[in-house]
Amino acid sequence: MSTRSAIVIGAGPTGTTLAIILARRGYRVAVFEKRPDIRRHRVHGGRSINLALMARGVRALEHIGALVDVTVRGVPIRSRAIHTPNGKVVSQPLGRTLNEHVWAVDRNALNAVLLDRAERLPNVQIHFDCQLHDVVLASNDVRVSRRAEGKEDIVHADVILGADGVASTVREVLVRAGSSFTLDKISHGYKELTLPATFTTDYMPEAFHSWPRESFMIFGNPNPDGSMTLTLFLPNEGDLSFARLTGKEAVRGLIADCFPDLVPATSALVADYFSNPIGALGTVKGGPWYHRDKILLVGDAAHAIVPFFGQGMNASLEDCVVLDELLARHSDNWGKVMGDFYESRRPNTDAVAELAMYNYEEIQARVNDAAFRFKRQVEFELMRRYPDRYLSMHVLVMFKQVPYNFARDCLVRQSQLLPTICAGVSDLDSLNWQRVDGLMAHYSNDIDALKVAHGVSTPC
Ligand SMILES: Cc1cc2nc3c(=O)[nH]c(=O)nc-3n(C[C@H](O)[C@H](O)[C@H](O)COP(=O)(O)OP(=O)(O)OC[C@H]3O[C@@H](n4cnc5c(N)ncnc54)[C@H](O)[C@@H]3O)c2cc1C
Repeated sequence: MSTRSAIVIGAGPTGTTLAIILARRGYRVAVFEKRPDIRRHRVHGGRSINLALMARGVRALEHIGALVDVTVRGVPIRSRAIHTPNGKVVSQPLGRTLNEHVWAVDRNALNAVLLDRAERLPNVQIHFDCQLHDVVLASNDVRVSRRAEGKEDIVHADVILGADGVASTVREVLVRAGSSFTLDKISHGYKELTLPATFTTDYMPEAFHSWPRESFMIFGNPNPDGSMTLTLFLPNEGDLSFARLTGKEAVRGLIADCFPDLVPATSALVADYFSNPIGALGTVKGGPWYHRDKILLVGDAAHAIVPFFGQGMNASLEDCVVLDELLARHSDNWGKVMGDFYESRRPNTDAVAELAMYNYEEIQARVNDAAFRFKRQVEFELMRRYPDRYLSMHVLVMFKQVPYNFARDCLVRQSQLLPTICAGVSDLDSLNWQRVDGLMAHYSNDIDALKVAHGVSTPC
């Protein structure tokens, strides 16, 4: 056990989880968060207020004993409901059985649970309304300002963890020390809208809803009170874009033309459209994520991704567990921990960034496409017939904890296998299963080799 001190910048899901993990390892932990305490000032609008919590996030919350407190406030999600342009709803299972589910959780509720847990530990202090401005690399001194008191402080700790999100200040400090990062923004932005509970009574419960429309889309995550958090993704510029959609009539027209089943909720949605800001979306990639044995980036600060796979927070929470395991393995030798953390996580977070972009493109191009939907059906049939040999990339990412780069490599093989199986066929009954058996034998050999390369032992 260590008696050293740690500063965590940012009290989002990553920062609070890290604070708990470090405090349990015996560190004195000071967390600095630039926003007010969300348990007293509910933050609403702009940032996603509802998050999909999946296997990796579940494991991390279990690891710190917070899972039940979070999931009692969430909604289990077992299927997808795709709302087509003509108002029809197509349902698809999410996992292989109804027991294979994920959770829709309120961001503030999740954060509140983690803050409560962190604050209950005697060696954690959380300072709200306290913004990091800079870190002096030579001394590890941290310059923070306290909004209420209007003054700046210099604080010091043995290690500094940057969990300050996509626009990380700690990342800027690392860039000064020689690291290099890119932030690739995509052409879409997003706005959050709330579909009140009165309009969702006929909606499939326990489902992720989506309204894919090629160049734009809406995602809907259910809330425990029956309402639904909708996220409208639109291009920032162009004919149908946030830049052009600036009048109430135009927004009403978009709903009437493209989202017929949302028409009854038009006035609520239009009001939200004009009161909520447009959020930007992008991918942060680069490194190294650390400076000597002193400063380390974790979560979105190191590897923010686009939200089309619901993995950003899940990957960030997985970071925290990996970090805890490395601290145990290297007896809190941060020099070794930081290097190993970066080397082991970077290939995985690069891979999940690719998978999130793949989903972004797939949703726009193919979700309304009959051939695409048939391929999905075939995948479920393969998982049923060959449970030890085929797991779709979606199942690997959402329900398993195999490395993301293994899931990405499986996707490459699956992208060759599925078109071959589906060529010239449009329904399951017409598939030649003897031929599929032969194709699956080759596929299994490939996957077995990948498993060895990635050190994966679970059946997939
Ligand atoms: C529209 C949208 C939908 C999403 N949906 C999902 C989903 O369904 N599932 C999923 O897994 N992920 C999702 N994500 C991603 C998820 O929100 C992030 O991956 C997650 O919030 C990362 O957590 P974090 O703690 O690393 O960063 P953040 O949540 O961004 O927290 C960083 C904290 O640091 C604070 N901070 C920043 N700068 C400073 C400073 N200088 N000084 C002090 N404090 C500072 C911030 O105020 C903030 O509280 C979504 C993202 C978006 C944009």
